[in-house]
Amino acid sequence: MAIQVLPPQLANQIAAGEVVERPASVVKELIENSLDAGATRIDIEIDRGGARLIRIRDNGSGIPQKELALALARHATSKISSLDDLEAIMSLGFRGEALASISSVSRLTLTSRTAEQSEAWQAYAEGRDMEVTVKPAAHPVGTTLEVLDLFYNTPARRKFMRTEKTEFGHIDEVVRRIALARFDVAITLSHNGKIMRQYRPAKDPSQHERRLGAICGPQFLQHALAVSWSHGDLSIRGWVADPAGSRALTEMQYCYVNNRMMKDRLINHAIRQAYQDQLKDDQLPAYVLYLDIDPHQVDVNVHPAKHEVRFHQARLVHDFIYQAVVSVLQEAGTAALPLHED
Ligand code: ADP
Ligand code: MG
Repeated sequence: MAIQVLPPQLANQIAAGEVVERPASVVKELIENSLDAGATRIDIEIDRGGARLIRIRDNGSGIPQKELALALARHATSKISSLDDLEAIMSLGFRGEALASISSVSRLTLTSRTAEQSEAWQAYAEGRDMEVTVKPAAHPVGTTLEVLDLFYNTPARRKFMRTEKTEFGHIDEVVRRIALARFDVAITLSHNGKIMRQYRPAKDPSQHERRLGAICGPQFLQHALAVSWSHGDLSIRGWVADPAGSRALTEMQYCYVNNRMMKDRLINHAIRQAYQDQLKDDQLPAYVLYLDIDPHQVDVNVHPAKHEVRFHQARLVHDFIYQAVVSVLQEAGTAALPLHED
């Protein structure tokens, strides 16, 4: 076969392979877009575990009519415009790939209205060239993304979808992680027409605990020790469960770097080390922690799904987190450990 440039739809489907693993990955990308648009309210509707429908409506800034087609194009983003921007990312998105990828493997419509416009517009892309059609629609200020029949045209991916219940479980987990990152945003999640979660916005710290309890459960709340620690331009806040709580709770590791949810081995390791022999070797402490760091000190462009980061000064970050957790455990009298590692 001669070398040829792939048609846009196929190129996007290949890119989708990295970003859109299952319905929950679509939900993650779309909610992140809503948050980047400044939404304070996000409503998520799911049918059949997301295989049939994912609909996300927000009250964010919306997309101007003349940019709707671009929003669906690959490598088109309003979030960065230079390498300097890339090296100091504060937004959740920056790759300009999610909508193009998702729309190449589903029937996606984008409906949006900005505050300056008196009416809303709707866009969808079709065919191998992903030609975009834009037409008038009804919608308040904000954006709705509707994703129907995910993977209908990529049978190999469709085969990897699990039961409705399993896929919804993954979606629920993504929504929970985001609800933990943004206590100020109202989020509802419904499945097959039934409201499953309703996270109300928390305004003051007493409401923070209520929301934390609603997401992580009463047992976590009961064992939670507050963390608040800073050094230079590093700061960490949140909660760790005392050793007894950590022994009882599994799968309760929530960590955020500059408000982005992460699965970071370095952070896990630092926290785990602070508990030393108070947990079994293979046991991780339960925690919800938010690390804030100068965005120049961290590279988020490591993985297409953006689950991982690379710290420029990994050792410093590791020791900082270790110190923060050890001192909280010590203060609570649950750790009779020296402050230095050995
Ligand atoms: P990225 O988030 O990396 O920029 P996306 O493909 O996810 O790329 O989105 C493309 C662009 O569409 C965004 O840069 C943004 O300008 C716009 N956009 C997407 N979703 C929304 C939304 N819910 N509200 C406002 N603008 C949006
Ligand atoms: Mg995005």
